[in-house]
Amino acid sequence: MYDAIIIGGGPAGLTAAIYLGRANRKTVVLEPVPAGGQAGIINDIVNYPGFASVSGYELIDNMMKQAKAFGCEILYSGAKSVDAAAKTVTLTDGKVLEGRVIIVATGCKAKSLGLSGEEELLGSGVSYCATCDGGFFKGKNVAVAGFGQKAREAAEYLKGIAGKVYYIVRGGDKVEGAENLDGTVTALIGKPLNAIEVVSADGEKRILDVSCLFVAAGYTPVTYLIAGQVKTDDKGYVFTDENMMTSVRGVFAVGDIRVKNLRQIVTAASDGAIAAQAALRYINMK
Ligand SMILES: Cc1cc2nc3c(=O)[nH]c(=O)nc-3n(C[C@H](O)[C@H](O)[C@H](O)COP(=O)(O)OP(=O)(O)OC[C@H]3O[C@@H](n4cnc5c(N)ncnc54)[C@H](O)[C@@H]3O)c2cc1C
Repeated sequence: MYDAIIIGGGPAGLTAAIYLGRANRKTVVLEPVPAGGQAGIINDIVNYPGFASVSGYELIDNMMKQAKAFGCEILYSGAKSVDAAAKTVTLTDGKVLEGRVIIVATGCKAKSLGLSGEEELLGSGVSYCATCDGGFFKGKNVAVAGFGQKAREAAEYLKGIAGKVYYIVRGGDKVEGAENLDGTVTALIGKPLNAIEVVSADGEKRILDVSCLFVAAGYTPVTYLIAGQVKTDDKGYVFTDENMMTSVRGVFAVGDIRVKNLRQIVTAASDGAIAAQAALRYINMK
Protein backbone atom coordinates (compact mmCIF):
# COMPACT_ATOMS: atom_id res chain seq x y z
CA MET A 1 0.00 0.00 0.00
CA TYR A 2 1.43 3.37 -1.05
CA ASP A 3 0.52 6.65 0.60
CA ALA A 4 0.52 8.27 -2.82
CA ILE A 5 0.54 6.95 -6.37
CA ILE A 6 1.54 9.67 -8.81
CA ILE A 7 0.80 9.02 -12.47
CA GLY A 8 3.12 11.03 -14.72
CA GLY A 9 6.68 12.19 -14.19
CA GLY A 10 6.50 15.70 -15.63
CA PRO A 11 6.99 18.86 -13.55
CA ALA A 12 3.55 18.53 -11.91
CA GLY A 13 3.93 14.91 -10.81
CA LEU A 14 7.58 15.22 -9.79
CA THR A 15 6.98 18.33 -7.68
CA ALA A 16 4.17 16.51 -5.85
CA ALA A 17 6.61 13.62 -5.34
CA ILE A 18 9.32 15.91 -3.93
CA TYR A 19 6.91 17.33 -1.31
CA LEU A 20 5.43 13.93 -0.38
CA GLY A 21 8.86 12.27 -0.25
CA ARG A 22 10.15 15.04 1.97
CA ALA A 23 7.19 14.44 4.29
CA ASN A 24 8.34 10.82 4.47
CA ARG A 25 5.29 9.41 2.74
CA LYS A 26 5.59 6.20 0.72
CA THR A 27 5.30 7.57 -2.79
CA VAL A 28 5.62 6.03 -6.23
CA VAL A 29 5.80 7.90 -9.53
CA LEU A 30 4.73 6.06 -12.68
CA GLU A 31 6.42 7.32 -15.82
CA PRO A 32 6.93 5.26 -18.99
CA VAL A 33 9.24 7.79 -20.70
CA PRO A 34 12.18 9.01 -18.56
CA ALA A 35 12.31 12.82 -18.80
CA GLY A 36 9.46 12.59 -21.27
CA GLY A 37 6.29 14.61 -21.39
CA GLN A 38 6.01 18.05 -22.86
CA ALA A 39 8.63 19.64 -20.63
CA GLY A 40 11.24 16.94 -21.32
CA ILE A 41 11.40 17.77 -25.03
CA ILE A 42 11.86 21.54 -24.76
CA ASN A 43 15.31 22.59 -26.00
CA ASP A 44 15.68 25.80 -24.11
CA ILE A 45 13.52 27.00 -21.22
CA VAL A 46 14.14 30.62 -20.34
CA ASN A 47 11.12 31.38 -18.14
CA TYR A 48 11.49 28.94 -15.26
CA PRO A 49 12.55 31.00 -12.23
CA GLY A 50 16.14 30.56 -11.16
CA PHE A 51 17.39 29.33 -14.55
CA ALA A 52 18.45 31.82 -17.23
CA SER A 53 18.40 28.91 -19.68
CA VAL A 54 17.93 25.19 -19.12
CA SER A 55 16.96 22.26 -21.32
CA GLY A 56 13.71 20.47 -20.49
CA TYR A 57 15.61 17.22 -20.20
CA GLU A 58 18.01 18.62 -17.60
CA LEU A 59 15.23 20.27 -15.59
CA ILE A 60 13.10 17.12 -15.47
CA ASP A 61 16.10 14.88 -14.84
CA ASN A 62 17.04 17.09 -11.85
CA MET A 63 13.48 16.95 -10.51
CA MET A 64 13.53 13.17 -10.82
CA LYS A 65 16.85 12.94 -8.94
CA GLN A 66 15.44 15.25 -6.24
CA ALA A 67 12.33 13.06 -5.84
CA LYS A 68 14.51 9.94 -5.61
CA ALA A 69 16.77 11.62 -3.03
CA PHE A 70 13.66 12.16 -0.86
CA GLY A 71 12.94 8.43 -1.03
CA CYS A 72 10.32 8.32 -3.79
CA GLU A 73 10.18 5.24 -5.96
CA ILE A 74 10.16 5.86 -9.71
CA LEU A 75 8.61 3.05 -11.75
CA TYR A 76 9.37 3.34 -15.46
CA SER A 77 5.99 1.96 -16.32
CA GLY A 78 2.73 3.37 -17.63
CA ALA A 79 -0.64 3.24 -15.93
CA LYS A 80 -3.22 1.31 -17.95
CA SER A 81 -6.29 2.05 -15.87
CA VAL A 82 -7.39 3.71 -12.65
CA ASP A 83 -10.21 2.85 -10.29
CA ALA A 84 -10.71 6.26 -8.71
CA ALA A 85 -13.14 5.11 -6.02
CA ALA A 86 -11.00 2.13 -4.95
CA LYS A 87 -7.72 4.13 -5.33
CA THR A 88 -6.08 1.42 -7.39
CA VAL A 89 -3.93 1.76 -10.49
CA THR A 90 -3.33 -1.07 -12.94
CA LEU A 91 0.01 -0.91 -14.76
CA THR A 92 0.54 -1.85 -18.39
CA ASP A 93 2.09 -5.16 -17.22
CA GLY A 94 -1.10 -5.98 -15.28
CA LYS A 95 0.31 -5.32 -11.79
CA VAL A 96 -2.16 -3.51 -9.50
CA LEU A 97 -0.99 -0.80 -7.06
CA GLU A 98 -3.07 0.47 -4.16
CA GLY A 99 -2.75 3.96 -2.70
CA ARG A 100 -4.31 6.21 -0.09
CA VAL A 101 -4.35 8.97 -2.66
CA ILE A 102 -3.85 9.11 -6.39
CA ILE A 103 -2.36 12.15 -8.10
CA VAL A 104 -2.93 12.24 -11.84
CA ALA A 105 -0.31 14.30 -13.69
CA THR A 106 -0.46 12.95 -17.22
CA GLY A 107 -0.22 16.26 -19.11
CA CYS A 108 -1.36 16.99 -22.64
CA LYS A 109 -0.39 15.65 -26.02
CA ALA A 110 -0.37 17.26 -29.44
CA LYS A 111 -3.41 16.60 -31.63
CA SER A 112 -2.76 14.81 -34.89
CA LEU A 113 -4.27 15.68 -38.27
CA GLY A 114 -5.65 12.14 -38.49
CA LEU A 115 -3.81 11.40 -41.75
CA SER A 116 -3.03 7.88 -42.85
CA GLY A 117 0.53 6.97 -41.77
CA GLU A 118 0.89 10.05 -39.54
CA GLU A 119 1.71 8.10 -36.40
CA GLU A 120 4.27 5.84 -38.12
CA LEU A 121 6.03 8.87 -39.64
CA LEU A 122 6.56 10.53 -36.28
CA GLY A 123 10.33 11.18 -36.20
CA SER A 124 10.59 10.31 -39.93
CA GLY A 125 9.18 13.48 -41.39
CA VAL A 126 6.25 14.30 -39.12
CA SER A 127 6.80 16.44 -36.03
CA TYR A 128 4.54 18.11 -33.47
CA CYS A 129 7.22 20.45 -32.15
CA ALA A 130 8.94 22.99 -34.40
CA THR A 131 11.20 24.28 -31.63
CA CYS A 132 12.35 20.72 -30.83
CA ASP A 133 12.86 19.33 -34.34
CA GLY A 134 13.21 22.38 -36.62
CA GLY A 135 17.01 22.27 -36.36
CA PHE A 136 17.11 18.88 -38.11
CA PHE A 137 15.75 20.48 -41.30
CA LYS A 138 18.24 23.28 -41.84
CA GLY A 139 18.04 24.51 -45.46
CA LYS A 140 15.35 21.95 -46.37
CA ASN A 141 11.76 22.47 -47.48
CA VAL A 142 9.22 21.98 -44.70
CA ALA A 143 5.51 22.58 -44.19
CA VAL A 144 3.45 23.72 -41.23
CA ALA A 145 -0.19 22.66 -41.05
CA GLY A 146 -2.76 23.36 -38.38
CA PHE A 147 -4.42 26.45 -37.06
CA GLY A 148 -4.20 29.29 -34.57
CA GLN A 149 -1.31 31.02 -32.88
CA LYS A 150 0.79 27.84 -32.49
CA ALA A 151 0.79 27.18 -36.25
CA ARG A 152 1.77 30.78 -36.95
CA GLU A 153 4.57 30.63 -34.33
CA ALA A 154 5.87 27.36 -35.79
CA ALA A 155 6.04 28.88 -39.30
CA GLU A 156 7.73 32.04 -37.99
CA TYR A 157 10.29 29.94 -36.13
CA LEU A 158 11.03 27.63 -39.07
CA LYS A 159 11.52 30.53 -41.49
CA GLY A 160 14.88 31.21 -39.91
CA ILE A 161 16.05 27.61 -40.28
CA ALA A 162 14.44 25.81 -43.23
CA GLY A 163 15.07 26.51 -46.91
CA LYS A 164 11.39 27.07 -47.68
CA VAL A 165 8.34 26.99 -45.42
CA TYR A 166 4.85 26.19 -46.67
CA TYR A 167 2.26 27.56 -44.24
CA ILE A 168 -0.96 25.61 -44.78
CA VAL A 169 -4.00 26.78 -42.82
CA ARG A 170 -7.68 27.29 -43.61
CA GLY A 171 -8.95 30.85 -43.86
CA GLY A 172 -6.07 32.60 -45.57
CA ASP A 173 -3.84 33.62 -42.64
CA LYS A 174 -0.40 34.65 -43.92
CA VAL A 175 3.15 34.51 -42.59
CA GLU A 176 5.57 36.82 -44.34
CA GLY A 177 8.42 34.97 -46.01
CA ALA A 178 6.53 31.66 -46.16
CA GLU A 179 4.52 30.28 -49.07
CA ASN A 180 0.99 30.64 -47.74
CA LEU A 181 -1.64 28.14 -48.81
CA ASP A 182 -5.31 28.28 -47.87
CA GLY A 183 -5.93 24.55 -47.84
CA THR A 184 -5.65 21.18 -46.13
CA VAL A 185 -3.01 18.46 -46.12
CA THR A 186 -4.70 15.32 -47.45
CA ALA A 187 -1.87 12.77 -47.76
CA LEU A 188 1.67 12.01 -46.60
CA ILE A 189 4.03 10.58 -49.22
CA GLY A 190 7.19 8.51 -48.65
CA LYS A 191 8.83 6.94 -45.62
CA PRO A 192 10.75 8.93 -44.53
CA LEU A 193 8.41 11.64 -45.73
CA ASN A 194 9.43 13.35 -48.97
CA ALA A 195 6.20 15.05 -50.08
CA ILE A 196 2.68 15.94 -49.03
CA GLU A 197 -0.55 16.29 -50.94
CA VAL A 198 -2.46 19.51 -50.34
CA VAL A 199 -5.96 20.38 -51.50
CA SER A 200 -6.53 24.11 -51.61
CA ALA A 201 -9.80 25.84 -50.69
CA ASP A 202 -10.73 26.09 -54.39
CA GLY A 203 -10.24 22.33 -54.84
CA GLU A 204 -6.84 22.41 -56.57
CA LYS A 205 -4.58 19.48 -55.67
CA ARG A 206 -0.80 20.00 -55.31
CA ILE A 207 2.12 17.79 -54.36
CA LEU A 208 4.74 19.67 -52.33
CA ASP A 209 8.25 18.29 -51.89
CA VAL A 210 9.01 18.62 -48.18
CA SER A 211 11.28 16.82 -45.73
CA CYS A 212 9.05 17.44 -42.75
CA LEU A 213 5.47 18.31 -41.95
CA PHE A 214 5.15 20.20 -38.67
CA VAL A 215 1.67 19.71 -37.25
CA ALA A 216 0.35 22.48 -35.00
CA ALA A 217 -3.28 21.56 -34.41
CA GLY A 218 -3.56 22.16 -30.69
CA TYR A 219 -3.36 19.91 -27.66
CA THR A 220 -5.58 17.43 -25.93
CA PRO A 221 -5.44 16.40 -22.24
CA VAL A 222 -4.33 12.85 -21.45
CA THR A 223 -7.24 12.05 -19.17
CA TYR A 224 -8.44 8.71 -20.51
CA LEU A 225 -7.42 7.03 -17.21
CA ILE A 226 -10.03 8.94 -15.22
CA ALA A 227 -12.53 9.85 -17.94
CA GLY A 228 -16.07 9.21 -16.78
CA GLN A 229 -14.93 8.96 -13.15
CA VAL A 230 -14.15 12.61 -12.35
CA LYS A 231 -15.76 15.81 -13.59
CA THR A 232 -14.20 17.30 -16.72
CA ASP A 233 -15.10 20.01 -19.18
CA ASP A 234 -16.25 19.13 -22.70
CA LYS A 235 -12.64 18.97 -23.94
CA GLY A 236 -11.64 16.49 -21.22
CA TYR A 237 -9.73 18.91 -18.92
CA VAL A 238 -10.29 17.99 -15.25
CA PHE A 239 -12.13 20.27 -12.82
CA THR A 240 -10.44 20.51 -9.41
CA ASP A 241 -10.95 22.60 -6.31
CA GLU A 242 -8.23 25.00 -5.17
CA ASN A 243 -6.43 22.07 -3.48
CA MET A 244 -6.28 20.18 -6.80
CA MET A 245 -8.81 17.61 -5.56
CA THR A 246 -11.07 16.24 -8.29
CA SER A 247 -14.75 15.41 -7.83
CA VAL A 248 -13.61 12.08 -6.31
CA ARG A 249 -12.16 12.54 -2.82
CA GLY A 250 -8.52 11.48 -2.53
CA VAL A 251 -7.96 11.75 -6.29
CA PHE A 252 -6.01 14.83 -7.34
CA ALA A 253 -5.29 16.24 -10.79
CA VAL A 254 -2.29 18.51 -11.40
CA GLY A 255 -0.57 20.29 -14.26
CA ASP A 256 -1.77 20.67 -17.82
CA ILE A 257 -4.68 18.22 -17.50
CA ARG A 258 -6.57 20.69 -15.25
CA VAL A 259 -9.05 23.35 -16.30
CA LYS A 260 -6.78 26.40 -15.85
CA ASN A 261 -5.68 29.59 -17.54
CA LEU A 262 -1.93 29.11 -17.83
CA ARG A 263 -0.27 25.83 -18.79
CA GLN A 264 3.42 26.24 -18.01
CA ILE A 265 6.12 24.42 -16.06
CA VAL A 266 5.95 26.85 -13.17
CA THR A 267 2.16 26.45 -12.81
CA ALA A 268 2.46 22.66 -13.14
CA ALA A 269 5.05 22.63 -10.34
CA SER A 270 2.82 24.87 -8.25
CA ASP A 271 -0.14 22.50 -8.71
CA GLY A 272 2.06 19.61 -7.62
CA ALA A 273 3.11 21.33 -4.41
CA ILE A 274 -0.47 22.32 -3.53
CA ALA A 275 -1.80 18.81 -4.25
CA ALA A 276 0.93 17.21 -2.14
CA GLN A 277 0.08 19.37 0.88
CA ALA A 278 -3.64 18.66 0.45
CA ALA A 279 -2.88 14.95 0.01
CA LEU A 280 -0.94 14.97 3.29
CA ARG A 281 -3.91 16.52 5.08
CA TYR A 282 -6.25 13.99 3.47
CA ILE A 283 -4.03 11.04 4.48
CA ASN A 284 -3.69 12.35 8.06
CA MET A 285 -7.46 12.76 8.41
CA LYS A 286 -8.18 9.15 7.40
C1 LIG B 1 6.66 22.79 -27.66
C2 LIG B 1 6.39 23.21 -26.23
C3 LIG B 1 7.17 24.21 -25.66
C4 LIG B 1 6.92 24.63 -24.33
N1 LIG B 1 7.71 25.60 -23.79
C5 LIG B 1 7.52 25.96 -22.50
C6 LIG B 1 8.39 26.91 -21.88
O1 LIG B 1 9.31 27.44 -22.51
N2 LIG B 1 8.17 27.23 -20.57
C7 LIG B 1 7.16 26.66 -19.85
O2 LIG B 1 7.02 26.99 -18.65
N3 LIG B 1 6.33 25.75 -20.41
C8 LIG B 1 6.48 25.39 -21.71
N4 LIG B 1 5.65 24.48 -22.28
C9 LIG B 1 4.53 23.94 -21.46
C10 LIG B 1 5.03 22.89 -20.45
O3 LIG B 1 5.80 21.92 -21.14
C11 LIG B 1 3.83 22.23 -19.76
O4 LIG B 1 2.99 23.22 -19.22
C12 LIG B 1 4.31 21.30 -18.64
O5 LIG B 1 5.23 20.35 -19.12
C13 LIG B 1 3.12 20.58 -18.01
O6 LIG B 1 3.59 19.70 -17.05
P1 LIG B 1 2.77 18.38 -16.67
O7 LIG B 1 3.56 17.72 -15.59
O8 LIG B 1 1.36 18.74 -16.40
O9 LIG B 1 2.74 17.50 -17.99
P2 LIG B 1 3.91 16.85 -18.87
O10 LIG B 1 5.15 17.64 -18.81
O11 LIG B 1 3.31 16.62 -20.22
O12 LIG B 1 4.16 15.46 -18.17
C14 LIG B 1 3.17 14.45 -18.16
C15 LIG B 1 3.84 13.10 -17.99
O13 LIG B 1 2.85 12.08 -17.84
C16 LIG B 1 3.30 10.91 -18.46
N5 LIG B 1 2.17 10.03 -18.75
C17 LIG B 1 1.20 10.20 -19.69
N6 LIG B 1 0.36 9.14 -19.67
C18 LIG B 1 0.80 8.31 -18.70
C19 LIG B 1 0.36 7.05 -18.20
N7 LIG B 1 -0.72 6.42 -18.70
N8 LIG B 1 1.05 6.47 -17.18
C20 LIG B 1 2.15 7.09 -16.64
N9 LIG B 1 2.61 8.27 -17.08
C21 LIG B 1 1.95 8.88 -18.11
C22 LIG B 1 4.00 11.43 -19.73
O14 LIG B 1 4.93 10.48 -20.25
C23 LIG B 1 4.67 12.69 -19.20
O15 LIG B 1 6.01 12.49 -18.84
C24 LIG B 1 5.86 24.04 -23.58
C25 LIG B 1 5.09 23.00 -24.17
C26 LIG B 1 5.34 22.60 -25.48
C27 LIG B 1 4.51 21.51 -26.09
